[in-house]
Amino acid sequence: MDYREKDSDRPVCLECGDEIMYGRTGRKFCSDSCKNRYHNRKYHYSRSVRLHVLGALDKNYSVLEKLLRLDIRSISLGDLAQMGYNKEFVTSYHKVGGHDEYRCFDIKYYCTSTRIFRIERVQEED
Ligand SMILES: [Zn+2]
Repeated sequence: MDYREKDSDRPVCLECGDEIMYGRTGRKFCSDSCKNRYHNRKYHYSRSVRLHVLGALDKNYSVLEKLLRLDIRSISLGDLAQMGYNKEFVTSYHKVGGHDEYRCFDIKYYCTSTRIFRIERVQEED
């Protein structure tokens, strides 16, 4: 019997990388503690990603609200970034009549490669 070949067939634990020596086929973890560690880490990662994105959206929204309050409807991407806006985070994107329309909750704007313009609140549709 070729020991090495048999070895390489064994699955490895997703958490610690050790070979899984026993148990039904298809096992992904060598032990319950590895399984728990793995899932806890995944959960914490998902949670931190969600919080990061929600925080960025919240920041973006407050920047847009401030612009509206100041009656600024057009601003360069550089100035926008200075205010802490991160254009990676929006709640939706549509192509509208050749323009790129972005929304952050109920505030929308068009975006070119250098600036955003026509910043305005989405009107309630009835
Ligand atoms: Zn393990």
